[in-house]
Amino acid sequence: MARRTLLPQAVTLTVSCRTSRELGAPARRHPVTLNPDGTVETPHDLDQERILAALGGYLSCLELVDTVAPAFFDWYRAQVREVPRPIRAKQPAGPWRAAKRAACCPARGFDEPQEAAEHARSPRHIASLAGIPARVLGQLVQDVTVPPPAEAGDQPWATLWECGMHPDRVELVDQTIGALSPMPVSFYLGVMSTNPRLTWLADTIWNADADMDTAIWLAWTYCAADRKAPAARTGWLATGVLRRLILPLMASVYTVADVEAFANHWNMSLSGAAVELHTWVEAGVCPPVSELTGPRTSHLGFPPRAPGFVARYRLRNELRQTPASLTDADLAMALVEHGDVLRAARALAR
Ligand SMILES: [Zn+2]
Repeated sequence: MARRTLLPQAVTLTVSCRTSRELGAPARRHPVTLNPDGTVETPHDLDQERILAALGGYLSCLELVDTVAPAFFDWYRAQVREVPRPIRAKQPAGPWRAAKRAACCPARGFDEPQEAAEHARSPRHIASLAGIPARVLGQLVQDVTVPPPAEAGDQPWATLWECGMHPDRVELVDQTIGALSPMPVSFYLGVMSTNPRLTWLADTIWNADADMDTAIWLAWTYCAADRKAPAARTGWLATGVLRRLILPLMASVYTVADVEAFANHWNMSLSGAAVELHTWVEAGVCPPVSELTGPRTSHLGFPPRAPGFVARYRLRNELRQTPASLTDADLAMALVEHGDVLRAARALAR
């Protein structure tokens, strides 16, 4: 396997080298070289020094090689935007947080993705993740500057660069979804936050003939249900159901086929059927659609609405004496069938 290239070229730094942990111990300054492949050159025989360290000796350069140098490489990879997803948010409005959180991170996150990204690649944050003093890494990086690639000067690449996304990654997204011109920044930030399968994103955008708003929504809402059933989202979008109902319905037991069956039975639009089934999801009880359209509802002139928590609670109380292993859905269906708590209780107690 080829080794990762961590630096474009070797970086040589001058460090203070000590052989004692004690404060004020004599220090000798010498160069160390950090190589592109992640190895570190020092004037020491490090194998020899490790044996001495095991016997109780101390060499600050061993710490440098073992903990500070890896942190330096992490810092460098963050500067050149080689960290694939440095920040994330649950929604476009934020708050934004570093993907890997440390003690230095503000609990409430950041309002702007740029602020979060700047923190995520700061020596302070990376040192904090590595468990080394920020000062140590700060000194090491103070003379190292990283020029951005040429294409990062224009929009949306300039903003995305500040947010930690490399222009190559932007291009990969554009190519995969077949975008002829760049998408809005929010789209790419959604991709960074939810990490969708790009082929899923491409297929869904094209199959659903998504407008820009829907494309951004897709980038921000990729979820477990999409991983399990990649074509489901296209099916939901084709129903014309309100977008805000699609995610809770996808996460529930109800499918597009259920919405269609409900709509057919109750002679209503798919959107209307989705609103009705969503009330059941919201109520936390999801009887099968075969029950919601079955004989127990045949006397109703309108689709059954989910009985509230209070009615179910009162019904369960009424049934205290009944040795029944009734589920919430059973109670809800009894309320639908019999109309109120007392009649439902009487019917169930029979
Ligand atoms: Zn932090």
